[in-house]
Amino acid sequence: MTAPIPTKAITAARPLVVARNVHKSFGDNEVLKGIDLDVWPGETVVVLGPSGSGKSTFLRCINHLEAMDRGSIMVGGEQMGYQLRGRRLQKLSSRAIARQRQQIGMVFQQFNLYPHLTVLQNIIEAPIGIHGESRREAEAYALALLQRVGLTEKADAYPRQLSGGQQQRVAIARALAIKPKLMLFDEPTSALDPELVGEVLAAMRDLADQGLTMIVVTHEIGFAKEAADRVVFMDGGHIVEQGKPEDVLVNPAHPRTRAFLGRFI
Ligand code: ADP
Ligand code: MG
Repeated sequence: MTAPIPTKAITAARPLVVARNVHKSFGDNEVLKGIDLDVWPGETVVVLGPSGSGKSTFLRCINHLEAMDRGSIMVGGEQMGYQLRGRRLQKLSSRAIARQRQQIGMVFQQFNLYPHLTVLQNIIEAPIGIHGESRREAEAYALALLQRVGLTEKADAYPRQLSGGQQQRVAIARALAIKPKLMLFDEPTSALDPELVGEVLAAMRDLADQGLTMIVVTHEIGFAKEAADRVVFMDGGHIVEQGKPEDVLVNPAHPRTRAFLGRFI
């Protein structure tokens, strides 16, 4: 079992995310073979690894978009998908799972903004529709979020009027609108033209600096170097190696990490 490695000055009493022995198969294909990971409040953890190593599946297990076969994932002290009834674990209703998921924001490779809604409407949709916030309250917060991602002047634009990088920054603001405790990013810049990658990474870097807890799957080694408190390298459904970026990225211990990083150097 991998020991948790806090790499920041951690003041919290316990990790925000505790994943233990997470297994997941699709048919005969065992994609996650026992993942253990702790993420502490305020940490930015970057997950690296070759295509098919199980990174997306693991992220999807964290917010229970994918049900794991074995193991457990706790987020904010709650086991995702289950509750303890006496000494027995009971599966939660889809409504209760939806409520658990609201503490987690997710940003995908594809931004999936609603094309018929303006930027502002995209952002306030969940806070009003799901959280029952007033329009005034939701709009004020949405504008503050747009300022955080540098897009205040685009509040009334439609997604098609924005560049890919701007759309992804709106998608980040939208994910933040539900005030999540944890943000998951699954290759947020992989669908972008190279010249638009930097602005999205800069917005994410700001969030990391402000102390948001984030798990980021990316191939952007530069981002990992600069923004990660910890780098986790996955291969073949295992966490092969993890540690501070200056250790894992500069002096990888495992041959598979070395081989993977060799492609980028
Ligand atoms: P990564 O994100 O590291 O590229 P994934 O988690 O997407 O890896 O995929 C790991 C493996 O799981 C791949 O072999 C992929 O084909 C398989 N897989 C992922 N999702 C599904 C699914 N819904 N049904 C069947 N196989 C899947
Ligand atoms: Mg993936």
